[in-house]
Amino acid sequence: GQCATVCPVGAITEINEIDKVWAALEDDDRHVIVQTAPSIQATLGEEFGMETGTIVTGKMVAALKRMGFDKVFSTDFAADLTILEEGSEFLKKLNGEGELPHITSCCPGWVKFAEHNFPDLLKHLSSAKSPMQMFSALGKTYYPDQTGVDPEKIYTVAVMPCTAKKFEKDREEINGSDFKDTDAVLTTREFARMIKEMGINFNKLPEEDFDALMGKSTGAGTIFGTTGGVAEAAVRTVKEKLTGEPLERLDLGFRGINKAEVRIGDRLIKVGIANGLGNASKILEQVRKGESDLDFIEVMACPHGCVGGGGQPRPATNEKKEKRGSGLSNIDDSSKIRKSHENPQIIKLYEEFLGEPLGGESHHLLHTKYKARPKN
Ligand code: SF4
Repeated sequence: GQCATVCPVGAITEINEIDKVWAALEDDDRHVIVQTAPSIQATLGEEFGMETGTIVTGKMVAALKRMGFDKVFSTDFAADLTILEEGSEFLKKLNGEGELPHITSCCPGWVKFAEHNFPDLLKHLSSAKSPMQMFSALGKTYYPDQTGVDPEKIYTVAVMPCTAKKFEKDREEINGSDFKDTDAVLTTREFARMIKEMGINFNKLPEEDFDALMGKSTGAGTIFGTTGGVAEAAVRTVKEKLTGEPLERLDLGFRGINKAEVRIGDRLIKVGIANGLGNASKILEQVRKGESDLDFIEVMACPHGCVGGGGQPRPATNEKKEKRGSGLSNIDDSSKIRKSHENPQIIKLYEEFLGEPLGGESHHLLHTKYKARPKN
């Protein structure tokens, strides 16, 4: 598959799931819900001749509704949830419970690479599931709990930037509901092909809104789709929870490796990012040798993060990837709510269903494990 050049999961071949999704949409007994990853809104427009970096959130939602999805939701909502779980985990580690540096785990290309090549460091990886998997676990538990829809009938589709997400959904240990959490993953290009198959005139679509319950996100959730975004979103919430003070910009993006320091109370927290697996290996070798002073490390397998994913529109030059990333940063800058812990739908989710971050229900639905695999 095209993923092989950017991520280590060379064994993954692109499985065309378009037919599976059409069949689910045509089946009256199925209740089909869809989530779209943060980066998709900044890349999909290119498939319809729009300028790189154009944000098409509203048209994307309108297209999904016309395709027949029963509910159209946003992975960005679950990205905010990942921040609450992962931020709480990082806080515990800062307090001496668990080992620093804390390393992100929302990129399945990176997780699989770590399992093969850095099994000794897996204890540093966040146990928080990726936003896609958190969303799907809730799609078959919280969503039916709130709506009365029979969970057996629910079919969950995720529109994602890469084929590594197809591998992730089939990991044995990933399911949290009593069902298969994510039923189908479509890449951006596959999704665009479906819109074209339907004969939808994408450019003429009106702007529509995500459905309630799991559709609202903050600027922090949106920047998950670009490099540096996860680290920035996490530190934003951790700093404010500890000190009550807002975070100034970290501006870590658009470099293969970068570092920043943040004062949180009386501590200086060192944050690093690596995108591209060569860069990740450099940082992880330092951690392995005890030569790294970083506290928090964000790793993305693809250069520029998910805006540079293998399932995104082609061709994708570095310049294009930067424009896509800037599109997401612009959404963050203009968002009224820019901190994950202030997302009203996330607050409601904890109040009415999950309890608290890292609590029993969260642990069961939203966290996972990793395992050493043979070196490749
Ligand atoms: Fe997929 Fe994003 Fe990881 Fe690339 S960086 S492999 S697009 S999750």
